[in-house]
Amino acid sequence: MQNTVEYTDGKVSPATIELLISERDNGKTLRELGQKYTRSYQRIGYLLNKYDSLAALLPETKVAANLGYPKKWLAQLREKGLIKPRKLGFWLYSEEQVRQIPSLIADTRKCAQCGKPLPKGAKRFCIECREYRKRNWYNRQSPEGKAAHNKHCMAWREANPEKWKEINSRAIMKYEAKLKGLGK
Ligand SMILES: [Zn+2]
Repeated sequence: MQNTVEYTDGKVSPATIELLISERDNGKTLRELGQKYTRSYQRIGYLLNKYDSLAALLPETKVAANLGYPKKWLAQLREKGLIKPRKLGFWLYSEEQVRQIPSLIADTRKCAQCGKPLPKGAKRFCIECREYRKRNWYNRQSPEGKAAHNKHCMAWREANPEKWKEINSRAIMKYEAKLKGLGK
C-alpha cells in the first residue's frame, strides 16, 4: 500500500487524495494519516479540506448546460467581473454563484432599445427592435449623415442609370400594389 504523499506536476495526485479520503472516512485521524504519510496533520487537513471544497464546485461547461445558456454568456459575465469563479485550469462555480447567474444574465442581456431579454444569438437588440432599426436606419441619421447619404445615392443613380430605372419602376409597382391593397 502507498505510504507517501504522491506529487504530480507539483500537485498532490488525485489517487493520493482518494486514498486519504477513504482512510479518513474509515475513521483514521489526521494525526494518524500524517504519521502514515510522513506529513504534518495540518498538511493532511489542508489537502482534505481543499478537496472537499473543490468537489462541491461545478465546472463552467456543466453550469452552462444545467442552466441552458451558451457558454459564451458565462464567459461574458466573467470578463465583466460580475462573477468570479475559481480558476483551476478551467472555471469552477460554487452553488451560490450558480444561483446568482440567471439574474445576472437578465440584468446584462437586455435589448438596448426596449429592455426585453435578449434571445440567443442577439448582441444588442431583440429581433423586433433590430428589424425596426433596419427599416428606420435613415431616420436615425444626423442631418449631415442624411445629406451625405443622399449625395452618395444621387451619385450612384447617375453612374448606374439603367439599374436605377429598374429599381425605381419596381418600387413604383410595389407602391401601387400597396395602395390597391388598401382599397384606394
Ligand atoms: Zn427590443
